[in-house]
Amino acid sequence: MAKYSNPFPGLKLEGISRQFQNVNAISDITFEVGDGQFWVLVGPSGCGKSTILRIIAGLESATSGNLYIDGLLVNNLPARARDVAMVFQNYALYPHMTVAENLGFGLKMRGVQRQEIALRVGAVARSLRLEHLLARKPQQLSGGQQQRVALGRAIVRQPKVFLLDEPLSNLDAQLREDTRAELKQLHASVGITTVYVTHDQVEAMTLADRIVVLNEGRIQQIGSPQTIYREPANRMVATFIGNPPMNILPVTYSEGGFHLHSQTIPCPETLAKQWQLSPEQHFYLGIRPEHLQILPDSDAEAHLVLQVNVVEPLGRETLIRASFPGADTLINILAPADWDQSPRVAAQLDLQHLHRFQG
Ligand code: ATP
Repeated sequence: MAKYSNPFPGLKLEGISRQFQNVNAISDITFEVGDGQFWVLVGPSGCGKSTILRIIAGLESATSGNLYIDGLLVNNLPARARDVAMVFQNYALYPHMTVAENLGFGLKMRGVQRQEIALRVGAVARSLRLEHLLARKPQQLSGGQQQRVALGRAIVRQPKVFLLDEPLSNLDAQLREDTRAELKQLHASVGITTVYVTHDQVEAMTLADRIVVLNEGRIQQIGSPQTIYREPANRMVATFIGNPPMNILPVTYSEGGFHLHSQTIPCPETLAKQWQLSPEQHFYLGIRPEHLQILPDSDAEAHLVLQVNVVEPLGRETLIRASFPGADTLINILAPADWDQSPRVAAQLDLQHLHRFQG
C-alpha cells in the first residue's frame, strides 16, 4: 500500500490580518514554513511579531485569513488541540519541581507512561546538557540553565510546531550567544518546524533558514539571511539588517554620476542602463560600511571626502562615523584597526555593491 504523505507538512499562513479597535496590528500575512524549517520573524517593537506568533499558537484569533498546520485548517481549533509548543521570554518553571519533573510534567499530564517519560526526558536533557542538573530545583539554576529547561520542556512533547517569543532576551550577552548556539544545535538534531520571534537582527541572521522582516504589521521581505543582507527589498530592510547599518545617501543622478552635497560618486554605464536612470532623477543610494575603502586624503581616486565625527575601535576593525562637510547626511565606514585618526577621511566606494531605493 502506498504510504500516505501529507502534501502540506509544516505551517501555512494565508492572508492573516488582525485588528484591535480599528488598529491594524498585522495585515495580510502570508508565508509557508516547510516541514522542519527554522523561520525567524524580525522587526522593530510593535511591528506585529508577537501577534503573529500568538495567532499560530491559538492564543489570539485572526480577524481574517487562514492558518494551516500540517495541511489542516486550524482557524477554529483551540490552542490545546493544535499540537504547538510555545516558549516565552519569561520562562515560568514550576518552582517546587526538580528539573526532571519540570521536563516530564507535560507528558505526565497527557498520560504518557512513566518509562517513556524517563526515556524522552533523558534524551532532551542530553541534547541540552542538563543531565547533571536533573535533580535540582529551578532556584538552584542560572538564568541560562532555566531557559534551557524551558526549551527542553517544550521540545520533549515533540510538538508539530515550536514557537519561541524572544526566548533569549532575559539573558546577559555571553549567555545569550551560548544559548543561541545551543538552540541552533538542538534544532538541527530534533528538526521541529520552528517560528522564532526577535527584534535582534543578529539572532535572525544566525538562526534562520528564512527571515521574515516585518514593519508596521506588514511583511517587508522574506528570504534567506544571505538574500536579505545582499538584496534588501527596501530601505527599511537595508537599515534594519546589518550592523553597522547600510549607509543611505540621497542622490541626484545626472551625466557623470550620483551627486550629493557638492560631491560626485561615479556611476558605471552598465549600472545606469540596468537601473534605467534618467537625468535629474532623485533616489537613495545604499552602500554597506564594509564596501567603502579608506584612501589617503590626497588620493585623486577618492569618491568622497568626509568629515570624521566619531571613531570607535571595535577590536578587529575601526568604525568611523563621518558626515558630509556642511550637511547632516551621516556615513559609516569600517576601517582597519590601525587606521591613523585624522579629522578628514577620503573614501572610495565599491561600485559593484551599490543599491538603489526609491522613497
Ligand atoms: P514587541 O517587540 O514590542 O513585543 P511586537 O512586534 O511583538 O512588539 P505586537 O505585540 O504583535 O508587536 O503588537 C503589534 C501592534 O498591535 C502594536 O501596535 C500593539 O500596540 C498592538 N496590540 C497588540 N495587542 C493588542 C491588544 N490586545 N489591544 C490593542 N492593541 C494591541
